[in-house]
Amino acid sequence: MRISQLLSKTLRQAPAEADTISHQLLVRAGMVYQVVSGVYSYLPLGWRVLRNLEQIIREEIDKVGGQELMMPVLQPLELWEKTGRHQSFGESLFTLTDRRGRKLCLGPTHEELITELVRHQVRSYRDLPLLLYQIQTKFRDEPRPRGGLLRVREFPMMDLYSFDADEEALELSYQKMRRAYKNIFDRCSLPTMEVEADSGAIGGKDSHEFMVIAPSGEDVIIHCNHCGYAANAEKAQSIKLDGEHEPLQSLEEVATPGMKSIEEVADFLQISKRHTLKAVFYVADGDLVFVAIRGDLEVNEIKLKNALKCTDLQLASEEKVQLAGLVAGSASPIGLSGIKILADDSIKLGTNFVAGANKPDYHIRNVNYPRDFQVDLILDIATAQPGEGCPKCRESLTSTRGIEAGHIFKLRTVFSQKIGAFFLDQNGETKPIVMGSYGIGVGRLMAAAIEQNHDEKGIVWPLPLAPYQVYLCALGMDNAGVTAAAEKLYADLEIKGVDVLFDDRSESPGVKFNDADLLGIPIRLVMSPRTLKSQSAEIKWRNKEESQLLPLEELTERISKDISGFIQTKLNR
Ligand SMILES: [Zn+2]
Repeated sequence: MRISQLLSKTLRQAPAEADTISHQLLVRAGMVYQVVSGVYSYLPLGWRVLRNLEQIIREEIDKVGGQELMMPVLQPLELWEKTGRHQSFGESLFTLTDRRGRKLCLGPTHEELITELVRHQVRSYRDLPLLLYQIQTKFRDEPRPRGGLLRVREFPMMDLYSFDADEEALELSYQKMRRAYKNIFDRCSLPTMEVEADSGAIGGKDSHEFMVIAPSGEDVIIHCNHCGYAANAEKAQSIKLDGEHEPLQSLEEVATPGMKSIEEVADFLQISKRHTLKAVFYVADGDLVFVAIRGDLEVNEIKLKNALKCTDLQLASEEKVQLAGLVAGSASPIGLSGIKILADDSIKLGTNFVAGANKPDYHIRNVNYPRDFQVDLILDIATAQPGEGCPKCRESLTSTRGIEAGHIFKLRTVFSQKIGAFFLDQNGETKPIVMGSYGIGVGRLMAAAIEQNHDEKGIVWPLPLAPYQVYLCALGMDNAGVTAAAEKLYADLEIKGVDVLFDDRSESPGVKFNDADLLGIPIRLVMSPRTLKSQSAEIKWRNKEESQLLPLEELTERISKDISGFIQTKLNR
C-alpha cells in the first residue's frame, strides 16, 4: 500500500476527550474514527489489525473443534422475554419495533438465539457436543462509553456457545476453550491473567475472565502472589481485617455538629474508621434497603445485587431516605422498622462502634450487633481490599488493574430450560442441554494490545497484529535512482508475501520517521541517496534502538527470513 493513496492521515494531537493511551494513539494513527459516542468506524489500517486478530481467533477456535456460523443482529424480543433477560439487561438493550409492530432488539449477545437454533437441530446425545461460534457486531447501550475502543456501544465480538450432554462434558468443553484462549492471547503477544468473575447479566455460575494487565483498565483485580488466587474485585472474597474486641459498653449519644461522612465523624471523635458503622441506602426494584457495613469498607454493589436477587439497584436519593423517616448522614439501624436491613459480616468484626443516631448532628457510641439492632440478612457484601487476607491461603492480597479481553461462563441449563432445548440421553430420557458461553471483544483486544505495546513515540505492534510488517521509507523521492530502487524493493517484498506500507510521499525525513513510529509497523526500511550510494538500505525494528545497513541484494531474503514463521502462517490460510 502506498501512503500517498491511503485514506487516513496521522494527527499530531489526540482529541481532548481521549483519556487512555490506546484511544489517543488509535485516533492519532488514523486507525479509527468516532461516529457518535461509543460508535467507531475502523479505517483501513485499523481494519487490517482487526482482521488479523479475527484470523488468529478463528484458527485457534477451529483447532479445538469450533464450527463458525453467522446469526442475525436483529433478534425477536419474545425470546428475551422467555429468559427474562430483557429485564436484566435493562436499558443496555437496544430495542426497536418493526413496521408490523413486532418488537425486536439488536443483539448484545446470542444465548437466546443460538439455544433456539440448537433446539431445532439437536435430538439425541449423538448430536452432542457442539462448539458453535461467530464473529459479529454486538450492541450495548452503555451508559458511559469511554476509552476509545475499551467501552463502546457497537463492537465486533467472537461469541461461542458450547452444548453438552452433561456436567463432565461441559467441563471438557470449558477446558478446551481455556486452552484456545491461552493460545490466542499468546499469539497476540498479550500476557493475560485468568481471574474468577461475576457472571452478571449473562447468567449462569462459574465464570472466568482473561485480563490484560494495564493501568488504564476499568477492572480491578484482587490477587494473591503466594497461592495465585485472582478474582475480579466485583467478585473477590477476602478475609477481612479484624476490629478491636473490648467489653461491651452502654449506648451513649454524642454530639457531632455538622459531621456527616464517616471520615468527618471518625476525625472529629478521633477514632479509626474501623470503629464506625456506615449506613448506605439503596433502592432495589423500587424498595428502599438499609445496608450496614463497617466504616472502613465499601459496599460491593454486585455482591449486594446478587444477595438481594434484584434486577435494578441504585443508590437511594436523599429525598427517598427522608421520606422513610431517616436522617441521611446520621441514619441508625437501631430501632428501625418497616425497612429491609442488610448487613455486611464486618459488623461482627469489632465492638462498641459509633453509628448514626437518626438525629441531625448526633451519633451513638458503643453500638453492638446483635445486642442493639437486628438485620434481615448478614453476609459478605464488601469490596475486597488489598492488604486483606487471601480466602485460600490467608496471605496478604494485592490489587492491579486490567482490561477484560475475554470471558468464559458455565451456563449449565439456565437457557436450555427456559428456551426448551432438550435431548434424549442414552437411556432415552429427556434432558436439558448443558451449555457454556465464551466471548472475546475483538476491538477491545486491539485497544488492549496498544495499552501493553507502545512508547512515547507511538504504537509498537506485535508482528502478528501489525497492519503491515514493513514500513518502506523512501527519502528524496525527487531522486530517480532512489525512486526506482524503492519501487523495486516494494515489488520484491510483496512478491515474497510481505505486507509493505510504502511511504512514497515527498515529505521531510522527520515527518516520515514520526509517522513510522506512530503507526508502529514492526520493521522500518529507509532508502535514501546516501544508502543508495552503497547499494544498501537501513533496517530498524520498531522495538529496538539500533539500526543497520544491509546490501539491497540481501534485503528481501533477510526480511522474509526474519519473519518467515509469520509469513508461513499467513500463506497457510
Ligand atoms: Zn493465597
